[in-house]
Amino acid sequence: MNKPEASRRGAARGWETDWQASGRMNMVKGSKKVIDLLNEARSRELTAILTYMAQHYELANDDYGKLAKVLKDTGIAEMKHAEALAERILFLGGMPTTKPDAEIKRGEKIAAKIATDIALEEGAIKMYNEAAVVCAAELDHVSKGIFETLLGDENAHLDMFINIKEHIDQLGDQYLATLTGS
Ligand code: FE
Ligand code: FE
Repeated sequence: MNKPEASRRGAARGWETDWQASGRMNMVKGSKKVIDLLNEARSRELTAILTYMAQHYELANDDYGKLAKVLKDTGIAEMKHAEALAERILFLGGMPTTKPDAEIKRGEKIAAKIATDIALEEGAIKMYNEAAVVCAAELDHVSKGIFETLLGDENAHLDMFINIKEHIDQLGDQYLATLTGS
C-alpha cells in the first residue's frame, strides 16, 4: 500500500538523517579520489553558474541584452554540468557539494567580465583534463567520460569568450554597441 502523501513528505525531510543513520554514507562505491575530483569540479561549476548569472543580470540591466543572453545560456549549460556531476557523485556513494570554490565577482566592466570568464573556463579545462587522467587510472571510465563531455563544452565556451575578447580589443565601443538591445 502506498504511504499517505504527508508521511512521504516527512520521510523526504528526514532524508539526510535517515541516510546517515543507515550508514549509507560509508558505503562508498567509487574511489574517494574520483568522488573528490567530481566534487571539486562541481564547486567550479557552481562558481561559473553564479558568475554567469550575475553577469547576465548586470548586462541586462545595462541594456547589453545580446551579451546578457550569451551569459544566461552559458550559465544554464554550467547548471547541467553541475547536475551531471551531482548525479555521478551520488551514484558513487558521495555527497554533492553545494559550495562554489571562489567569491563571485560583481560589477566588473565588460572587458573585465570576459577576462573573468576566460580564466574560469581555462581553469576548468586544466582541472578536467587532469581529472580524466586520474579517473582512467582509478578504472572509472564513466566518470572519465563525464569529464570529457564537460571538456567539449568548456572548450566551446572558452573559444566563444576569446572571440568576444578579441572583438572588444580590436573594435572597442563599436563592437560593444552591437551587443545592446535584445
Ligand atoms: Fe561547466
Ligand atoms: Fe563553461
